[in-house]
Amino acid sequence: RIAAVDGAVGAFLDVDADKALADADAADAARREAGSAGDPVPELTGVPTAVKDLIVTRGQVTTAASRILEGWVPPYDATLVKNLRAAHLPILGKTNLDEFAMGGSTEHSAFGRTANPWDLERIPGGSSGGSAAAVGAFEAPVAVGTDTGGSIRQPAAVTGTVGVKPTYGTVSRFGVIAMASSLDTPGPMARTVLDTALLHDVIASYDPLDSTSLPDAPRGMADVVRAAQAGADLSGLRVGVIAELDGGEGYQPGVVDSFHQALTLLQDAGAAVETVSLPHLEYALDAYYLIMPAEASSNLARYDGMRYGLRVEPTEGPVTAETVMSATRGAGFGDEVKRRIILGTHVLSAGYYDAYYGSAQKVRTLVQRDFTAAWQQADVLVSPTAPVTAYRFGEKDDPLAMYKLDVTTIPANLAGVPAMSLPSGLSDGLPVGFQILAPQRADDRLYRVGAVLEQ
Ligand code: GLN
Repeated sequence: RIAAVDGAVGAFLDVDADKALADADAADAARREAGSAGDPVPELTGVPTAVKDLIVTRGQVTTAASRILEGWVPPYDATLVKNLRAAHLPILGKTNLDEFAMGGSTEHSAFGRTANPWDLERIPGGSSGGSAAAVGAFEAPVAVGTDTGGSIRQPAAVTGTVGVKPTYGTVSRFGVIAMASSLDTPGPMARTVLDTALLHDVIASYDPLDSTSLPDAPRGMADVVRAAQAGADLSGLRVGVIAELDGGEGYQPGVVDSFHQALTLLQDAGAAVETVSLPHLEYALDAYYLIMPAEASSNLARYDGMRYGLRVEPTEGPVTAETVMSATRGAGFGDEVKRRIILGTHVLSAGYYDAYYGSAQKVRTLVQRDFTAAWQQADVLVSPTAPVTAYRFGEKDDPLAMYKLDVTTIPANLAGVPAMSLPSGLSDGLPVGFQILAPQRADDRLYRVGAVLEQ
């Protein structure tokens, strides 16, 4: 399938078919061995998986879609990759993304863009656009993405697939190339809620190598899905429609219609739907675009041309640490990454720190308090995943126009709460995503509601 369609879709940066086949054989052997010993076998054993190229894989090139890491072969596996290997999920290859996960369209990769399988002239979303397109184009049954401000949910929405950002700390960040550490959340992507849950259960683990890993993160999501599918009943569940994200300026009418149709399905299943206001969401986007660049500018300081990755020496003048660093970073980073590093160092600089970074952190606290208050009124919150369906390549060349589309996904990252996107229908022939949010550690509610809605 990859050979047939990936020339047009461009979901993968690297495919290692021989290794994947060898791993599939090993999975068969493990299944037989466990079977004869009477041990339970993870259900996804042998299921080929695509992994976003922000996640390090031992012995397989990992680039973050950046020239600065071109050709870098990591000497270790991310913890979530170790979990995939332990459960014998063969890794098909590494998927494309916006460079260092900065973007929402996968147009900002140093190695070419990925197309949306629904319309090859349109974006697959981002930054996990390669993972979403691989799943959407039937190149991989399941994929891993990362979500810092929506990068799993928004690509899932625009490709008609399912994506989950688990509670922050559920899936280890060890070996996930850092963008904004307080927001980065790896998670599963698939074509159904059940497949997403199965992958969630494989990649989630407590990890002492990640200082923010949760020792008691929820597990057993696949069981939750199966129970919900059997009952198909949401009686007693309080669903809160986020007032600030329920249409208006910037929202495509077909997206809002699809969202409201899904709400009636929830009501039909017995849920009580009401509107809930989170007043500080108005400032969430602004706060994110200060906090995220600040953390990214600090995280990306390690690409200095000295330790690993690209090294460029200046063509004239003295060769010093300073000039090598400058030449390397000038040549290795793309425009979007440079823009955010400049913004991040600016907001962290003495004299501006309080006004920008400090204020943004205060807003983040206010957003978190809004969520805490909202959970008194609702068990889950819902909104459209993205204000618009997949747009055409080049349509959002102005960075601010692209940033603004993240308004629906960013609140979950600022608050660290889990969120799911699943398909709610089509608008003008293109998929629309429905977003469900739940309190921290209540990921099971996403899977319960998602499973019923999907039916
Ligand atoms: N689109 C958002 C951004 O550009 C989110 C990216 C992400 O979640 N990695 O920052």
